[in-house]
Amino acid sequence: MEKVLLYKGKSKSVYAGENINTCILEYRDSATAGNGAKKAELDGKGALNAEISSILYQYLEKYGIETHFIKKLDDTRILAKRVDIINVEVIVRNKAAGSFSKKYGVPEGTALKNTVVEFCLKSDELGDPMMNESQITALGIASQEDLEILKNRSLRINSLLSSLFDKCGITLVDFKLEFGMYDGRIILADEISPDSCRFWDKATGKKLDKDRFRRDLGDVLDAYREVLRRLKNAQQV
Ligand code: UDP
Repeated sequence: MEKVLLYKGKSKSVYAGENINTCILEYRDSATAGNGAKKAELDGKGALNAEISSILYQYLEKYGIETHFIKKLDDTRILAKRVDIINVEVIVRNKAAGSFSKKYGVPEGTALKNTVVEFCLKSDELGDPMMNESQITALGIASQEDLEILKNRSLRINSLLSSLFDKCGITLVDFKLEFGMYDGRIILADEISPDSCRFWDKATGKKLDKDRFRRDLGDVLDAYREVLRRLKNAQQV
């Protein structure tokens, strides 16, 4: 079948599926940081993220979270439901880190009195600016009802993922989610991987995520492999 490229993102390419309701996500080895300012090819990253994300989406499905995941096709490709992406990124934070620490002057790792949920506009040109709910509804990007669904769903996903990663000896510090509309429903789309989460080893505090690339800490793919290894072990128990 001829491959029809629908969209090429920074680390994934999206191709048309066999029918109008499906698409094929191909995880590439490209790594970017600083909104594309820093770039590299990390040999094998695509396969690692495809596998990690597939495990996590199947786990979430098992607990009643509808996702776009249908099946894994090969090492780097996933068959998915074809959604209309909602142009909002949802960021969930269990501890202060990254842009939150920088913006508000809070040391990384600071405990938070409640889980933080942030919305950002999905726009590379504008650098994904944070948006409040009235700004999002004012521009018609999502309705207030949809924002309530996004918030509640993201918090439920956070509880499910936090307990799974706890079993892996990993603190889920923060992560980013994207949702899409499918057949009139909001479902989880995009990916959940070390590219889109902060994972800290519980015992040592070692970063097991894309911060190793962003901050030139080295051993990027060893860390991704370690996350995958622990997830596979956790599935067996
Ligand atoms: N994140 C992401 N894509 C983005 C922005 C953030 O996947 O475009 C993830 C990031 O990996 C981290 C969390 O969302 O796990 C919070 O990111 P933060 O706002 O701290 O921004 P960063 O420090 O990554 O610029």
